[in-house]
Amino acid sequence: ISEDSEAVASPLPSTSASRSDRIWGDMTPYASKKKLQSWFQTPNGDWELVKILSTSGVETLVSLPEGKVFKVKEESLVPANPDILDGVVDLMQLSYLNEPSVLYNLQYRYNQDMIYTKAGPVLVAINPFKKVPLYGNKYIEAYKNKRMESPHVYAITDTAIREMIRDEVNQSIIISGESGAGKTETAKIAMQYLAALGGGSGIEYEILKTNPILEAFGNAKTLRNDNSSRFGKLIEIQFSETGKISGAKIQTFLLEKSRVVQCAEGERSYHVFYQLCAGAPRSLREKLNLRSVDEYNYLRQSNCFSIPGVDDAEQFHIVMEALDVVHISKEDQESVFAMLAAVLWLGNVSFTVIDNENHVEAVEDEGLSTVAKLMGCNCGELNLALSTRKMRVGNDTIVQKLTLSQAIVTRDALAKSIYSCLFDWLVEQINKSLAVGKRRSGRSISILDIYGFESFDRNSFEQFCINYANERLQQHFNRHLFKLEQEEYIQDGIDWAKVDFEDNQDCLNLFEKKPLGLLSLLDEESTFPNGTDLTFANKLKQHLHSNSYFRGDRGKAFTVCHYAGEVTYDTTGFLEKNRDLLHLDSIELLSSCSCQLPQIFASNMLTQSEKNVTGPLFKAGGAESQKLSVATKFKSQLFQLMKRLESTTPHFIRCIKPNNFQSPGKYEQGLVLQQLRCCGVLEVVRISRSGFPTRMSHQKFARRYGFLLLDDVASQDSLTVSVAILHQFNILPEMYQVGYTKLFFRTGQVGVLEDTRNRT
Ligand code: ATP
Ligand code: MG
Repeated sequence: ISEDSEAVASPLPSTSASRSDRIWGDMTPYASKKKLQSWFQTPNGDWELVKILSTSGVETLVSLPEGKVFKVKEESLVPANPDILDGVVDLMQLSYLNEPSVLYNLQYRYNQDMIYTKAGPVLVAINPFKKVPLYGNKYIEAYKNKRMESPHVYAITDTAIREMIRDEVNQSIIISGESGAGKTETAKIAMQYLAALGGGSGIEYEILKTNPILEAFGNAKTLRNDNSSRFGKLIEIQFSETGKISGAKIQTFLLEKSRVVQCAEGERSYHVFYQLCAGAPRSLREKLNLRSVDEYNYLRQSNCFSIPGVDDAEQFHIVMEALDVVHISKEDQESVFAMLAAVLWLGNVSFTVIDNENHVEAVEDEGLSTVAKLMGCNCGELNLALSTRKMRVGNDTIVQKLTLSQAIVTRDALAKSIYSCLFDWLVEQINKSLAVGKRRSGRSISILDIYGFESFDRNSFEQFCINYANERLQQHFNRHLFKLEQEEYIQDGIDWAKVDFEDNQDCLNLFEKKPLGLLSLLDEESTFPNGTDLTFANKLKQHLHSNSYFRGDRGKAFTVCHYAGEVTYDTTGFLEKNRDLLHLDSIELLSSCSCQLPQIFASNMLTQSEKNVTGPLFKAGGAESQKLSVATKFKSQLFQLMKRLESTTPHFIRCIKPNNFQSPGKYEQGLVLQQLRCCGVLEVVRISRSGFPTRMSHQKFARRYGFLLLDDVASQDSLTVSVAILHQFNILPEMYQVGYTKLFFRTGQVGVLEDTRNRT
């Protein structure tokens, strides 16, 4: 902080001037600084370090490291930091806090396998895409004993544990980033640290074993990540008063169930299907009538069966062992595998046209009979459930035959429902097993691993929900880091020049407002039997055209201005995905099965609407079953999540993907920069650096460090004691502020006191 804190605007072409100004503050003319080194942006957008040879008003003569000399316009140069600041552990320490300097600092560290860097209170983690020698017991011990202090997931997890114990407040570790950025790996690294420090009872081993299970059932190979999580996850790890892990609870969000029946070329369905087909022992293969993966339509369509470097058969054994560890009985395990096989065989059920109105029935072949056998139902009933629909007309029930496309939709809906119910059931069983401690008095640390902001060429309902969630999480981040901070300064009467930050409340209003917000309008249109994706899109345009965060596009598309950028959504499939209907015929079929799992799934589906969430209920396929829309359910989950997070002290980890090839050593500046901007890392550094991030009440400060005083001031009030401490330890006046109730410190100040205290 004592360093030169001048900052200049970044001239990056893709950044609007106003945004740059907001981020970097005043735009001091650069020539006046007469620095020797400077950043120059090459035509491909990357930044090069150049030496300044001479300056003549508007033009500057510079040289590249390899000796090439050329003239550039002065305003195209951005100041570089002195070499002595190369690779600082915290971006806040940079004298020149501009984009190229930040990018360079991260790259400098990354090239030496120092993938972690602090950005004020936030930990930035850049995916190495290779094994780095930073983990394991040796490192855990070093962080635990504070022998090691460089930024690390271990360090931030250690802080969480200490603050949980010291402040008696629950903690959360919020991990975000794009697909493939390393969130799930980071979450596992944090869990390892918690298990090592809080272990002892054995429950920590169970908690770690939930990872391979959830990854098998909830992760898949996508074009972006060979092990992409297709669900969001919050794991709350509970501690007893003695600081030992006593239990855990997992909550999952929005599993992408469409993947079960449909996935893009080069991607895979959920790992567990391939693992089962490759690794099931002979007796199980026979029992479930298992074939190789290329014989199942659901797995065959994407033309991708294996992942380089991954042995599915071996993984299957790891998953089976893990299921044992979390106390899923062998019998239940077999039922789980039977459901997986049933899903696969359902995809092989085909239909044949039976009349001249294009009505169909299922072909009575191996596919149909195997599904019936695995679920414990009658082949004829299964056929009826897939090819007809019961309708209520007045007091009568009539049976309507389905066309080919209707039958396929019905079949796929059943497969998706079975899979997502299975996933939920499994999580429930795991939670039962982990709920050993259950003593309410303890504290907890929650780890959130949730999909980051997504913007593709084509964005659908899934991206809509994901980006909405990220909008909420971003607000939490903003509120916590900026707003609360400033409010606290002002409340305590300290000298603080207010800093603007981008609040995204307006964008959230666009989603959440009733009755004219995106979610309400979606639900309303979903309840209309005649509503279509087009009528939905038109309705949005009609009601929201004047909202500055919304833009109606041609046809069925609309655009939202998210905090991380504009995203255009294609409404195709929105209504169907939001309704997510399973015909009552299918639910009845499940409940008529002799196997236990289908029965449980059916009853869960029927009771869903009675749970304490409110929202519009849909008539399922004209029959009596009612359910909540997907968007409403998701929103209510999200609100619960935010409520939980708000009662914790958050720790943020932002994962960054350095290239799109999942390959080590490649650091693409443009890609990194775009992610840094999206997650607010740059802004948080600026604000933290200019603020007083550490604070403590007068009383607490006096109590904590008063005994270090040489003079006896025990009888004095805590403010007097505090000031005496500040003087005795020579804390410079610009390093702290004294508020009405608290003391505020620049980063690093309290560290000195803590060290002295710990040595005493
Ligand atoms: P998604 O949103 O798709 O689930 P993600 O952010 O969870 O993505 P991960 O699955 O955690 O991404 O990471 C992708 C891959 O990157 C991992 O499979 C692993 O190969 C590599 N990786 C991530 N973090 C590390 C690390 N700390 N050390 C070594 N490799 C890593
Ligand atoms: Mg993941």
